[in-house]
Amino acid sequence: MRIIALLVFSTLLSIPSFGWGPIGHRTIGLVAQQHLSKKTKRKLREILKHESLAVVSMWMDEERSNPNYKHMEDWHWVDIPDGKTYAESEKNPNGDAIQTINRLIDELESGTLSLEEEKINIKMLVHIIGDIHMPLHVGKTGDQGGNKVKVRFFGDETNLHTVWDSKIIDSKKFSYTELAAAIDHFDDESTIEKWQSDDVMVWVEESMSYRDLIYDLPEDKYIGYYYIYDAWPVIQERLHKAGVRLAGVLNKIYG
Ligand SMILES: [Zn+2]
Repeated sequence: MRIIALLVFSTLLSIPSFGWGPIGHRTIGLVAQQHLSKKTKRKLREILKHESLAVVSMWMDEERSNPNYKHMEDWHWVDIPDGKTYAESEKNPNGDAIQTINRLIDELESGTLSLEEEKINIKMLVHIIGDIHMPLHVGKTGDQGGNKVKVRFFGDETNLHTVWDSKIIDSKKFSYTELAAAIDHFDDESTIEKWQSDDVMVWVEESMSYRDLIYDLPEDKYIGYYYIYDAWPVIQERLHKAGVRLAGVLNKIYG
């Protein structure tokens, strides 16, 4: 019995984590909700019924162990080596986050989906637009977006990916509603418009631009207050931009 428990536990540990944790994804969903046009809000209520964007934001991670959705596994991320562009990089034959975002938007714009298909496309879009703003979801190749980089976060043995997707956020002890309120505080329309006019490749290049900061680890691989001090403003901006841009995409489709 003990051995089985141990085996199950070690299998769980070896699954690489993908994307923001629940607080990050829900924050993005809530920020987006606050930037939707009236028309888009109405349309989303017809499609998602009682579920908010924050609630559906984790659907892709919740379904990861569902064999019916196994083909979606590589759609949360993309690898682009240092010094290369997406066009120059080797493409994943199973698809990637960039291809998937573009396809989901095209399908939603075509207006040919059934209500059920439309619902699933929106759930996926909320999640993947969030993921691609997580800098380690645009991986530099070879280390599974930091999953293979072992570090210590205060006392815990963990990896760099987990530090960025949830450990730092969780350490701040915000609920997602508190975090959304904390980051989405300005009414500067020109910034909002600028962010919403950037296309997917800009989102990706921004995510890549943080590699020096992310990989600048102390010799002993101990991540504490000093590292978090630099990382936290980046994380807040990525969540904010992801939410504002998600709203921009949905307003373009439905507004
Ligand atoms: Zn994900």
